[in-house]
Amino acid sequence: MLFGTNGVRGKFDELNPIFALKISQAIGIYFKNGTIGVARDGRLTGECLENSVISGLLSVGCKVINFGIISSPTAEFMIKKLSLDGLIIITASHNPPEYNALKVVDKDGISISKERGEQIEKIMDSIKTVKWDEIKKSTEYVSSQKDHIEKIINNINIEKIKKRKPKIVLDFGNGTASTMKKLFERIGCKLICINEKIDGNFPKRPSEPTKENVQELIKTVIKENADCGIAWDGDGDRVIFIDEKGEYIIGDRVFGISVLIKLKETAGNIITTVATSKLIEDIGKRYNVKTDYCKVGAPYLSEKMKTGKYIIGGEEVGGVIWPEVSLAKDGFYTAVKIIEYMCEKKLSEILEEMPYYFQSKIKIDADKKEKEKIIERIRNNSKKEGLKTIDIDGIRINFENGWAIVRGSGTEPAIRIFAEGKTNIESRKIMEKTREMALKD
Ligand code: MG
Repeated sequence: MLFGTNGVRGKFDELNPIFALKISQAIGIYFKNGTIGVARDGRLTGECLENSVISGLLSVGCKVINFGIISSPTAEFMIKKLSLDGLIIITASHNPPEYNALKVVDKDGISISKERGEQIEKIMDSIKTVKWDEIKKSTEYVSSQKDHIEKIINNINIEKIKKRKPKIVLDFGNGTASTMKKLFERIGCKLICINEKIDGNFPKRPSEPTKENVQELIKTVIKENADCGIAWDGDGDRVIFIDEKGEYIIGDRVFGISVLIKLKETAGNIITTVATSKLIEDIGKRYNVKTDYCKVGAPYLSEKMKTGKYIIGGEEVGGVIWPEVSLAKDGFYTAVKIIEYMCEKKLSEILEEMPYYFQSKIKIDADKKEKEKIIERIRNNSKKEGLKTIDIDGIRINFENGWAIVRGSGTEPAIRIFAEGKTNIESRKIMEKTREMALKD
């Protein structure tokens, strides 16, 4: 198991209290035995793992600040606020209830990637605990939501929202997003809340806010004649919207709206992952700014944001980083920024401002060797045809009317191809062309 693209993830038989304790000791040493924040979501294994994590950190001489059950964006916001040396969030985000994970974040607010995680794994072989009289304290910190809400409110035009009083349906999906309900009350929205109670069984809907999982939200928006619906994943860093007509707005279009809002406020470049829709680059071009690409995964995005070269960053599944708040994806600030813009025009009208791409995806079975071969073929064939590629993570090919990405699956012996085109036919043509390039020597 150990470190994946974003932390250590597993079911309880793997990510058990003993393992959590050991890896937390290594994390404590990696963070130089400093002050470490601990937060968790409402999963059933959360409290049990939390005790191990705190114990592991204390045993190597760390001081612990325990935030209890809060959302990931709130926990990540607290790093700078309290000058923490590191943070462990016990959350499996959008995964099924039997999973849990340790998301590890450094003092700059950057989550630990697979590569940096390997350094922590090495430390696990040589753990040294401190002496009995060198153990420090774990203290509780209960006002992190309040601090996070204050920060968000200071960055928006609250009067504009209070005047318009939008009617909004919030679907917390029984995750930690409900800890931020007060934010939406404070800015003066008329609220209808569903799936509000934090419940680690996720009884009402799976924690990933896909279209099929948020049907209750869609129905409620229509029935209540609301201005929009909002749903988060299990730990609140990702957010999706439903417009006033009941249309589902997928994550990368939420990122698109965010980019549009940001570029109306200020000029600057954008960073996104190689798997993100071309619509981001198109919006950037309208404003004469550049869109750069990075590897898929939140840690890589945050690392790029830290360079200070970008005014906004986001990933294909709808996590948006706004550096004025933190270097982490923040599903609440994203939601409020979109609500603020919705006070000028309807959400469906905002969507009309953006280019639309049709998407198609396929999977081709391939073992490790074949995966490498496919990438190599794509590289050679693109060169032959004079097509531009980006190969920092899999390979992305730019076509005239769209693009495609070919990447090895992290979990299966397979290659995934994702294509986008201006029309449905175009998108399928690009897919076919890419498949051909993948299989032809
Ligand atoms: Mg998440």
